[in-house]
Amino acid sequence: MEQDTFRHKGMRRQLVEAIERNGIKNKDVLQAINKIPRHLFMDSSFLEFAYEDKPFPIGAGQTISQPYTVAFQTELLEIEKGDKVLEVGTGSGYQACVLIEMGAKVYTIERQRSLFMKTKELLARLNYHPKKMIYGDGYKGLPTYAPFDKVIVTAGAPYVPDALLDQLKTGGMLVIPVGVDTQVMKRIIKMGKGDFKEEEHGLFQFVPLLGDKANGLK
Ligand code: SAM
Repeated sequence: MEQDTFRHKGMRRQLVEAIERNGIKNKDVLQAINKIPRHLFMDSSFLEFAYEDKPFPIGAGQTISQPYTVAFQTELLEIEKGDKVLEVGTGSGYQACVLIEMGAKVYTIERQRSLFMKTKELLARLNYHPKKMIYGDGYKGLPTYAPFDKVIVTAGAPYVPDALLDQLKTGGMLVIPVGVDTQVMKRIIKMGKGDFKEEEHGLFQFVPLLGDKANGLK
């Protein structure tokens, strides 16, 4: 049975205060981070790291993103209740839960089968219910369920995939870290068909967005 003790809650409050000091203002984002037991998304032996503002390995060569980065990307998305959001890179499922806590309808894709299976089971156990969890290639988005109000990519993309821009509603936005060694956090707003406004929001470091199986990449 998962435990969320007073000690966990206390550590989480300190984490939220640290993130706020670092410039995150959106109260709904801070409230979601305050509520979600991040330690349950990591192996129990790593509890002491769960409430540090750092990324952490979750297996299969992947990481649970740094809480500040989760907060930063979520703030950029300007989530409103009922938004239909596509997440590329489910990973531990933590970011998806932040979005769900904020009232978004979440569609999330993961490229690594072992993580996909583990996270699907975890979220069900924690009673978080994305609209869809898909094992697949996020470069292609999810055309069957498009269009989306918002799209978030949680791995470093070498370029902006056209499919993700196509699958945005007009007025919708894509938040995506773009680059190979380090990434520029881009927010791309769809003004109309083929008409986009692009902003840059600083440098970050993510694990890379993996290529398609067809390219021989795993
Ligand atoms: N959002 C995650 C979380 O809250 O834990 C962080 C994820 S981690 C930084 C990036 C994730 O993207 C990894 O789980 C990785 O397997 C996944 N990924 C990489 N390439 C992908 C692709 N082409 N399609 C979907 N997921 C991909």
